[in-house]
Amino acid sequence: MQLVDPFNRPIEYLRLSVTDRCDLRCGYCMPKGFRDFEEPSHWLNFDEIERVIAAFGRLGVTRIRLTGGEPLVRKDLPVLAGRLAALPGIGDLSLSTNATRLAKHAVTLKNAGISRINVSLDSLRPERFRDITQGKLEKVLNGLMAARDAGFYPIKINMVVMAGVNDDEVEDMVDFCIEHDFTLRFIETMPMGETGLSASRHYIDLKHIRERLARRFELLPGVMPGGGPARYVRVAGTELRIGFITPISQHFCETCNRVRLSVDGTLYMCLGQNDRFELRPLLRDGASDAELEDAIRHAITLKPERHEFRDKPEQIVRFMSMTGG
Ligand code: SAM
Ligand code: SF4
Repeated sequence: MQLVDPFNRPIEYLRLSVTDRCDLRCGYCMPKGFRDFEEPSHWLNFDEIERVIAAFGRLGVTRIRLTGGEPLVRKDLPVLAGRLAALPGIGDLSLSTNATRLAKHAVTLKNAGISRINVSLDSLRPERFRDITQGKLEKVLNGLMAARDAGFYPIKINMVVMAGVNDDEVEDMVDFCIEHDFTLRFIETMPMGETGLSASRHYIDLKHIRERLARRFELLPGVMPGGGPARYVRVAGTELRIGFITPISQHFCETCNRVRLSVDGTLYMCLGQNDRFELRPLLRDGASDAELEDAIRHAITLKPERHEFRDKPEQIVRFMSMTGG
């Protein structure tokens, strides 16, 4: 009973935003001082989330990633993780986090059934890190080490590479990931609303970064399990794998296998389009499981063929933190 969209793509992956709030303000994700968050009464509660995820599980979605906003600012996230990990059909439960609260929660999350962790890290220089995120680098590094000590492996570091902001640090990030045995992914910045670090000013095509790295490191073809959009290389003589995520220069829409559920129960079909379907009214109006599954099947028919970040960069009015990155 696999969900398949109108372009024949099987949908087997859901990114679940458990909050649109965050304790950082990365300049490409949210405007500085932004506070216009979703009303708590609109947040799906844990019972509602469990019900929706169970329905997706029955429809063949096997992989769930908890994201946000910052998922660890949602109270009792490890409890939710434990409930979702126990659902039949859900084979892979992972987490995207900024790691500020990971030192406290890493062991509990591992015990709850989170299998893999991705951490955002855009700079290894404390002052620059503060400029980009308004937060403290030390907290993030402590969180990362706690995740490693808790036994998470592999841990993927996500770095949004921005011209004139942090593009001079890519080699340092490679050295850091070799030293700590992390996987590294570089991401192209996408236009996601009027934020401080605008994609139009700071976008850089990752092919330039790859060429630069190839001058210092021998890059071999590589793969990583997971089925995501990154194209990987391996650094010769090390265990390091580097992924390049290029939504702008080389989009990967033809293999898109995912949808996104926001904290208020809106199912977004594409990060770069406005097609959506509201599940919260069904959940709160007593819909049966069969009705919920029908609604999800219908929602998937709305999935567009591709994003248009390049042709219509002004189109998206949602910040990444709202959709769930
Ligand atoms: N707070 C968590 C974190 O930072 O990992 C999870 C949510 S965050 C929205 C998910 C990912 O989206 C992060 O890796 C972040 O760097 C990325 N992201 C946010 N805004 C972006 C943008 N405009 N372009 C590219 N990536 C973006
Ligand atoms: Fe928060 Fe993640 Fe957005 Fe940064 S990228 S502001 S950590 S949600």
